[in-house]
Amino acid sequence: MTDKIKPGVTEIADHLYRITIPMPFRLEHVSVYALFEGRDISLFDTGGNFPGTFPVFEGLLKEIGGSVRDVRQIFLTHYHADHCGIAGLIKEQSRGTIFMSEIDFDTIRSFEQEELRLQRFTAFCTEQGLNQKTVKMIAGLFKTFKGITAPFQADTFLKDGDDMTVDGKIVKVLATPGHTRGHCSFFLAEEGILIGGDHILPHITPNLSPDLLSPAFRPLKSFMDSLEKIRKLPVRKVYPAHGPSFPDLHARVDEIKVHHSERKTLALNALKDRPKTTAEVSVNIFGNGLPEFDKLLALNETYVHLVELEDESTIRRYREGEKFLFALA
Ligand SMILES: [Zn+2]
Repeated sequence: MTDKIKPGVTEIADHLYRITIPMPFRLEHVSVYALFEGRDISLFDTGGNFPGTFPVFEGLLKEIGGSVRDVRQIFLTHYHADHCGIAGLIKEQSRGTIFMSEIDFDTIRSFEQEELRLQRFTAFCTEQGLNQKTVKMIAGLFKTFKGITAPFQADTFLKDGDDMTVDGKIVKVLATPGHTRGHCSFFLAEEGILIGGDHILPHITPNLSPDLLSPAFRPLKSFMDSLEKIRKLPVRKVYPAHGPSFPDLHARVDEIKVHHSERKTLALNALKDRPKTTAEVSVNIFGNGLPEFDKLLALNETYVHLVELEDESTIRRYREGEKFLFALA
């Protein structure tokens, strides 16, 4: 699939619109969804709080006869800034109710303890053998990222299996942990529409990272389980946050499974000559030339695969000084 998606508004079902907002960064845009019930609007995700995003969002909403003041409910798939960045600003004007998972809201709250967050991050990266220059550079970026989510309080926590009715349509809440521990997707049963956030994307796989607040969380296993879960639904079309919609959920799930199984093999093969840190395995898989921030994404991706190999007892880890090494079992 190579079709591109452009900023703008598209009606995808009766009273349901996709609003695609431009975004800096490689992802280029994020799609949010607006369901109208008369004048009242329910939003699924909001876009990031980047300079200029809010007026663009307002303008696009206006094109379909909507106003920010008429937003009654905001459903958030997860805590990442490109999804919930302007939720607080919308709520300020509309007094709408913000729904998200308790897990992801707790993650947002945990960012208030900046020092602790930094400590956890530095400890993890050091244990996994990431070089200190990269760690410091990325730690500095955390501060820059802060402003792209306007502060907000969640009003209601989403629960797996909850059914909501909006505009006479049944919207089912699905916990789909993986990309984040509290990620939720929304299924419009009658329409067969899955609003999947970052859970399942057409062209890329969502980044999988360890959850430093919950070290026992297994992102890759959870992600795979969540894919199996949505696969059982009668989905006719997936509407993701990034990239175009796509009809064949099953085919995409299969592709993603193959992708991660291949990556797991690459991680295993990287350990055949000697024990290595996650950072070393990551260089074997992704090469040496990545930009600094991508080195962290690659490290995280690698780590979540190593965790699964460890769980299968194919490999083991041991500590050497301040680092962990992974070795064939
Ligand atoms: Zn995300």
